[in-house]
Amino acid sequence: MKKIAILGSTGSIGTQTLEIVREQKDIRVVAIAAGSNIALLEQQMREFSPALVSVWDEKKASELRVKTADLKTKIVSGMEGLLEVATLPESEILVTAIVGMLGIRPTIAAIESGKDIALANKETLVTAGHIIMPLAKKHGVSILPVDSEHSAIFQSLQGAAGNRAAKILLTASGGPFRGKKREELSKIQVEDALKHPNWVMGRKITIDSSTLVNKGLEVMEAKWLFGVDLDQIQVVVHPQSVIHSAVEFEDGAVIAQLGTPDMRLPIQYALYYPKRRNLSGKRLNLFEIGQLTFEEPDTDTFRGLALAYQAMERGGNIPTVYNAANEKAVALFLDRKIRYLEITEMIEACMKQADYISNPNVDEILGTENAVYEFISGRWM
Ligand code: NDP
Repeated sequence: MKKIAILGSTGSIGTQTLEIVREQKDIRVVAIAAGSNIALLEQQMREFSPALVSVWDEKKASELRVKTADLKTKIVSGMEGLLEVATLPESEILVTAIVGMLGIRPTIAAIESGKDIALANKETLVTAGHIIMPLAKKHGVSILPVDSEHSAIFQSLQGAAGNRAAKILLTASGGPFRGKKREELSKIQVEDALKHPNWVMGRKITIDSSTLVNKGLEVMEAKWLFGVDLDQIQVVVHPQSVIHSAVEFEDGAVIAQLGTPDMRLPIQYALYYPKRRNLSGKRLNLFEIGQLTFEEPDTDTFRGLALAYQAMERGGNIPTVYNAANEKAVALFLDRKIRYLEITEMIEACMKQADYISNPNVDEILGTENAVYEFISGRWM
């Protein structure tokens, strides 16, 4: 029996992880954590019987204790709670499926406790990749990508026998506004941006996909995960989302992973790596698809991607500025407080005014996040 803990068990990745647990029947969920959705947490507690549950908000945690008084589960809260879930001795793999930079400390704690990481929370690597990757190496733990593109790259590298990737072809669907120009984007409403053409995901990442900020974050994630330079990563817009990404080797051979848009596959691959298991669901039918097309990304219209390359080139704490500014901007957009195009304007303004730190530690990363939030509050709110 494999034993796992999940940060963000009530979210899109979290619930799909639990679908795999349900289907495969040989994984035990020993701990789960979520923000505030205690109704779903209660259901998950009753179905999966974890030993430990963490709720961010202490008031909600108290409510959950009352609702589940008939169970033996320990319920904890706050950052202490997330750290306890991340480091629970029984668990072997931590699935990091919470949104945002909140994932950094628990991921570090889990690595230091020797857990393998099934990593969905890309913000952790974007902001703290320079800390996480050497730490994982030091503790001999694996960082197993859950993001579909990174899983595809990881799968394409299997059997490479030590040959390094010369180039990574990171595919992007292009989002719901592919082909549109800036004037057309100025009228975009929350509902429009929440309609992803191919994938069903959480709200924040769906908005990020529409602005191509998600692709920018993925470029940074790929750089850390696969140890390549930025100029070795090429973003390829591929609207059908059939090729999930590919690797080009020195001799020009390109190895890709293809599949239906189903996040359960990369999640399951990370949980059972290097084994493959049967997975229910639709199989790829190339005759039905007929055509695969490819385009260059339009970085003049979708500034989010161009800014990501700039952030990564400057390095240090600037990817944190990029990420924090985007997190705040997306939250404001979802609350209908700013317009769609202001998301990338805000990121650019924050990157311009940020104080540069070349090799930030965790406190400096979190300090940078706060400084960005303060700058945005002072200027926009
Ligand atoms: P969702 O918004 O669907 O879920 C977020 C999860 O985080 C929920 O369980 C939520 O709990 C929990 N959470 C939020 N705040 C806190 C908190 N303060 N403390 C503890 N838990 C908290 O997000 P996704 O599943 O879409 O994304 C999760 C991560 O995975 C992101 O980093 C995203 O970029 C990445 N990712 C997602 C993909 C996808 O297909 N969805 C694909 C690739 C990567 P609650 O429900 O209680 O609010």
